[in-house]
Amino acid sequence: MTQLCKHFSSDVLIIGSGIAGLTAAISARQSGVSVILVSKGAGTYAISSGCIDLLGYVANKNGTEAVEAPLSALPLLPKDHPYSLLGKDAVLQAISFFSDILERQKAPYTAGKTEEGAPKNTLLPTILGTVKPSYLIPKTHDSTPLFNGKKILVAGVSGLRDMSPKLCRDGLRRQAGLGDKEMDTVLLPAPLNGLHRSLSTLDLARFVDTKEGETWLETSLGRLAPLYDCVLLPPILGTKNGGEPAERLEKRLGTRLLELLSIPPGVGGIRLHKALMQEARDLGIRFLENVDISAAVLSGSTATCVTTQGTSPERLLASSFILATGGILGGGLTSYPDRIEEKIFRLPVDAPSGLSRTNAHIFDQHPVQSVGVRVDAHLRPAEKDTCLLNNVFLAGRILGGYDHGHEKSGHGVAITTGYMAGIFAARHAKESHGV
Ligand SMILES: Cc1cc2nc3c(=O)[nH]c(=O)nc-3n(C[C@H](O)[C@H](O)[C@H](O)COP(=O)(O)OP(=O)(O)OC[C@H]3O[C@@H](n4cnc5c(N)ncnc54)[C@H](O)[C@@H]3O)c2cc1C
Repeated sequence: MTQLCKHFSSDVLIIGSGIAGLTAAISARQSGVSVILVSKGAGTYAISSGCIDLLGYVANKNGTEAVEAPLSALPLLPKDHPYSLLGKDAVLQAISFFSDILERQKAPYTAGKTEEGAPKNTLLPTILGTVKPSYLIPKTHDSTPLFNGKKILVAGVSGLRDMSPKLCRDGLRRQAGLGDKEMDTVLLPAPLNGLHRSLSTLDLARFVDTKEGETWLETSLGRLAPLYDCVLLPPILGTKNGGEPAERLEKRLGTRLLELLSIPPGVGGIRLHKALMQEARDLGIRFLENVDISAAVLSGSTATCVTTQGTSPERLLASSFILATGGILGGGLTSYPDRIEEKIFRLPVDAPSGLSRTNAHIFDQHPVQSVGVRVDAHLRPAEKDTCLLNNVFLAGRILGGYDHGHEKSGHGVAITTGYMAGIFAARHAKESHGV
């Protein structure tokens, strides 16, 4: 961990190391400026599947419709949605930029394409037997072998209470295109018997990282797996990138292994985090971890520095700032019974009074999910079309105007806004130096 000194200074300072902050840091650094990334925690990675949702659903006059090709659906979004503000080309460039990072870091991902070569969603099976649309997906979640296969094995692990193979199988049989499959279930014997709590997918994935764990999985599946076209598992195929041990096991077992989307902890999110952290380190981005930024110092409509929490606050100076502190969950927005606040720059949060925090239907739209800070087309905080701060750029879930849970657009928005915020912030820093 880096020790915080009296003053730090960089061209671009990024607050938040979730997917938006890390993408912004890499983008700004690649634009040729010095970058410091400061964060108090790791972000919501640890609960995500690692799949990059671009846009799975849009609202229409009858409710909600599923999206097959996300870019074709962008015109249906409201004009203040982050994708509408930045435009289709920005989304495409951000995807390409992010895919290149994954390739460099040997994180095996795949993505669907329409006949015209445009991004296309893939339906991914979950441990509950439902399916969810996503765009850029870890290869171990690629559902092609499930939809193409005839004989499918659904495997749970004894002691892993998050998944019932029978519930999963019964649900999947009700999904379009899966009703005619021959599907069997099995409960693999529990490893790690010494734990005094129920097993999690992360416990098992870490175990499978070891030689002993890989042998446990191979031996447990060994007799059955070759009889099936595809084996569905909870996400337990290790926490590392590079396609191991999935590729080794598939070769030895003679079948395809497919990880199901699961509830947190998010093993896939942890793999994705590792890949982005490594890319940032490779580029020489400086990290200040476990640092809680509490306030900003302004001079008119320009931010000059941010300060840390504590009795003797430290100052972090920069030419441009990127605020990527997430929503209520990430810590960027603080929720009180009567209001929601952004506390560092004291930016106005677009939250109607009397905002409902509940909904009888958990997967329906929740107004509180779309609450956030409004920005202009350069991602600077704005109110009624007036830019409030000329050198502060926002990215990710801190932004208002979209509901990632309902739309299935979370990481897609974080990546697109992070990528563009990095470019805008670097350009502003260069201009302020007269470069
Ligand atoms: C359960 C769940 C599962 C999800 N799964 C998926 C999925 O599979 N695919 C998908 O596309 N989307 C998913 N999402 C949505 C997705 O997680 C978010 O939309 C997106 O990743 C937000 O990223 P972010 O970087 O904006 O914020 P966050 O990940 O919340 O990161 C915020 C960062 O800011 C830091 N921070 C906050 N305040 C301060 C401060 N004062 N000082 C210093 N640092 C600070 C935090 O420590 C953290 O590093 C999921 C969301 C949930 C709730």
